[in-house]
Amino acid sequence: MKLLVLSGDGIGPEITAATVRAVEAVNHRLNLGLTLEAAEAGLVSLEKNGTTLTQAVQEQARAADGVILGPCDTIVYPDVNDGGINPSAWLRKNFDLYANMRPSLARAGAPAKAPDIDLVIARENTEGFYADRSMFAGSGEFMPTKDVALAVRKITREGSRRIVDAACKLAMKRRKKLCIVHKRNVFRMSDGLFYDVAQEVAAGYDGLEVEDTIVDAMAALLIRRPESFDVVVTTNMYGDILSDLAAELSGGLGLGPSLNAGDDRAIAQAAHGSAPDIAGQNIANPVALMASASMLLNWLGERHERPDLVEAATRLDDAIGAQIAENGTKDLGGTLGTDAFGDAVANRIVNFESKNST
Ligand code: NAD
Repeated sequence: MKLLVLSGDGIGPEITAATVRAVEAVNHRLNLGLTLEAAEAGLVSLEKNGTTLTQAVQEQARAADGVILGPCDTIVYPDVNDGGINPSAWLRKNFDLYANMRPSLARAGAPAKAPDIDLVIARENTEGFYADRSMFAGSGEFMPTKDVALAVRKITREGSRRIVDAACKLAMKRRKKLCIVHKRNVFRMSDGLFYDVAQEVAAGYDGLEVEDTIVDAMAALLIRRPESFDVVVTTNMYGDILSDLAAELSGGLGLGPSLNAGDDRAIAQAAHGSAPDIAGQNIANPVALMASASMLLNWLGERHERPDLVEAATRLDDAIGAQIAENGTKDLGGTLGTDAFGDAVANRIVNFESKNST
């Protein structure tokens, strides 16, 4: 099985290197037979090839079983016509990765502002306000005059159905609670459609407890009673914003993993950005990307009926948790650099002794 690793920009190369060390450790320890193949995407590629994502790398991504993608400094990218392809958006759109699962978990040792938070935000990933991916041709953002800018938000029945279905399936494996987040009081048609479809889909899951909340109230409720939420399902931009809030409540943006999954493919990607303010200093927290890689292994294990990959995902996540409890990076109040944290997690995996082993 082949994983493509694209390190991205800013802190991307540092956190990707730490992640690769940990994934290679579990690969060798459990004889998973994974091949990790590195390629360039982002500003390095722009400099060399005139584009942030070459055709060759696009093909490599297509040929891979999964992708680990570091964050990209998209705000400084030139226009797409000048080579500034957003790799994350390209992969989400071209591979139809409609379900962006973003867990927030308060781990022992992390400075969680919400010590009991344990939720997953299921964010629709292929439509909404995202102008670069919601259109068949052209952009969803345009300017009729130099003083007027418009953005079209796309909500479809099928797009809503499939993310809500993925969220319900996940909730049934967890605490069986679903919260639908919307703003149907104002967006009566678009959020109204999302809400109606969400209720219809959720009604098909026996034993699932369903509540719904308007997105602005949700920002307050996440702070007031974060522990009461299990799986939260919502449209693209609401999910993007609320998941950063939830990650911060769990102890910081550097802790927020995410998996972008479709029916056939998935990519691991931290929820945070390229953090240019701390790039190159060996202080970035690699946990978000490492835990995203664990989610990818779990997804591949379930999809290909490979229990060893599911076991690998658990071992990687357990090692991350144990290492945070002992000593983390600076943002967590710890003393380890990015590389030392990666090495420590890799060592834990290599030295793991099963409770059942003699
Ligand atoms: P950001 O998430 O990069 O950083 C916000 C704050 O969180 C900064 O103070 C940063 O230092 C801190 N932070 C983020 N990740 C951290 C980590 N792993 N460890 C410790 N601290 C961390 O958001 P931004 O500064 O608004 O965006 C920077 C760039 O990233 C922009 O170009 C933006 O477009 C891009 N971005 C990319 C993605 C992606 O590739 N998926 C996602 C979000 C933003």
